Amino acid sequence: MTDSVQAPARHRRAVHLLYVPTLGCNLGCTYCYLGDQTDPRSSRMDAERALPTLLRTLERFEEAGVLPFNVSLHGGEPTLLPEKVLDGLFGAIREHYRRHHDAISSLGHRKSNPHVKTNLFRFGELQDVFLRHRVSVSASIDLPLRLHARHRLTRSGEPWMDRTLQNLRLLAKYPHERKISTTISAVHLEDIPEFVRDIRRLHDEVGLDMNRFNLMFAFPSERNSRLREGSALEPASEQMQIRLYEALKAEFSGSDLDEGFRRHWFDEFTPSYCTNSLDCGEKFLLVQSDGSVHSCVRGQGMPELHHGNILSDSVESILERASNSIRGIHREEGLHPDCRECAHLHLCRTGCPAVKRNLRTGKSYTCQLQKAIYRDNPMTWPALDEPRRQEALHAYVREIHPVLVGGLPPLPGRPRILPSDFQADRDTLSAIVANDPALATLYRSDLFVAEMAGETFPMVPQILRTERTWMALLPSDDFRLHLRREALSAHGAEPLRNPVHLQLLRDVPVVYDDEGRSKQEHLSTWMAWPALLEESRFGAEWASLDLMPMLRANRKAFLPGVRLNLFATTSELRERHYAKQKSNAFYHIQAINLPFPNIEFHWVEDPTRSDRMSP
Ligand code: SF4
Ligand code: SF4
Repeated sequence: MTDSVQAPARHRRAVHLLYVPTLGCNLGCTYCYLGDQTDPRSSRMDAERALPTLLRTLERFEEAGVLPFNVSLHGGEPTLLPEKVLDGLFGAIREHYRRHHDAISSLGHRKSNPHVKTNLFRFGELQDVFLRHRVSVSASIDLPLRLHARHRLTRSGEPWMDRTLQNLRLLAKYPHERKISTTISAVHLEDIPEFVRDIRRLHDEVGLDMNRFNLMFAFPSERNSRLREGSALEPASEQMQIRLYEALKAEFSGSDLDEGFRRHWFDEFTPSYCTNSLDCGEKFLLVQSDGSVHSCVRGQGMPELHHGNILSDSVESILERASNSIRGIHREEGLHPDCRECAHLHLCRTGCPAVKRNLRTGKSYTCQLQKAIYRDNPMTWPALDEPRRQEALHAYVREIHPVLVGGLPPLPGRPRILPSDFQADRDTLSAIVANDPALATLYRSDLFVAEMAGETFPMVPQILRTERTWMALLPSDDFRLHLRREALSAHGAEPLRNPVHLQLLRDVPVVYDDEGRSKQEHLSTWMAWPALLEESRFGAEWASLDLMPMLRANRKAFLPGVRLNLFATTSELRERHYAKQKSNAFYHIQAINLPFPNIEFHWVEDPTRSDRMSP
């Protein structure tokens, strides 16, 4: 996906839209992460709704003043659908480009033909409809081709190599835009010379212009591993990525494929792609034929990157949720020390949030490869000198990690944003907490434990979390809060006057008050006085509280796919937090969001329609 610029006045925003007319597929590739969702039988319903949903989607965006400047078809496998449906989809996209030609051109995009990502299985028989609409084709192929034969199998488990080559030859002669793309795992790089030979073979023997080729690297995802039950392909390590890059550079620099190597093959790892956006949620969306909206292909399997349904939710709320979720992931995965020091942070912006969440890391999984590309193209992708690097770091942190602003060294020669008497060893959040015994208790990670369906989870203050686990809770599950009794008497509090204070929020963005920040929506506050507390199975030092009656009473506000966020503290500690906010501006700004220990979960009203545990 390529990045965009500002929309012209009539549209207040422009987005890149992937449309998935069906999740069904005519192949059964061994590593497909979509699992049984690709069952071609599901495509019958898709054939009926694919076009109406696309039309309604474009209409909804138009009404909201949002311009999809790019509408590409993705799968599943779009060509699984009948030719008549494809004809309708291609026609609708061309018409969209025709109607918005001027607006899209003014954004610097030249779009007039539909684009589709396909496995090419039906390319031969569908040539007419492709030609009629001048469809731009991106064909997914495994390299080396030996692995295409091994992993890209028909649904009955057969290789189809002859047909692949036949359709690649047709594609070579296809007169409109076309390219090959390949996704690489460790196994694809076991024999790099073979990889190189097959690029040559496709270029020289099959006749495809392999300048139009691009590479992607598979990354490990929990969902993929679960679905493949351990047979998911191992991702290529950063060293392997570099080895491939250097091998292709040595082989193709100065050759007839020099242009491809320099401009296209590694394009995904340069700043023109979504992966280098500050907040890709502002610009990139994927809509399925059932109307559900996700960030992109990578976000399809991640509940936190499911942003609602275009047929029932407002575009405004979808865009707001998209941006909040993406920024939330960047924030929660933290700022990696390498990125803090990096002279290319202004270009990279720490990489794809979906991969960061899956890998539980704060930096891009292709960091070293990107640095090699920057190094080889220093004028195109310059490293910043130290003063400008510091400025870029401040700008990035202000936007994505505002809570870390106070901990940054001041910008040389610039007035501080914080008052000049800010002292890092006194005024950072960690220093303030360490110096205040009540806050030190409030920020403990061992006072509250959630027990859900037999599993226990220490509740860590949200503000200190470096990773998150989201559980799925069924109406029939047990959900119990355990708390250390000492929390009730901490810092001279009288337990009988100090109830457990619980707040429940849902992940629907709402704007409160004149500060205009959007926050999670508050659903309920409960105070459980000591008489309601029960024994805990953790022993006499602990008490417990059954949370299910309270949750069941509020279930009508729980939305499918929308996370719930439960905070626990005591009334006394909560008051200490707000008192500190009043008396200490440094604390206030760094603890502007609720700091209390929390747990997040999905309420699964109908367990037959959802995974038990989010990825
Ligand atoms: S989550 Fe990653 S792949 Fe998806 S749009 Fe954002 S940067 Fe791109
Ligand atoms: S190139 Fe690497 S270190 Fe630099 S910002 Fe990107 S992920 Fe961080």
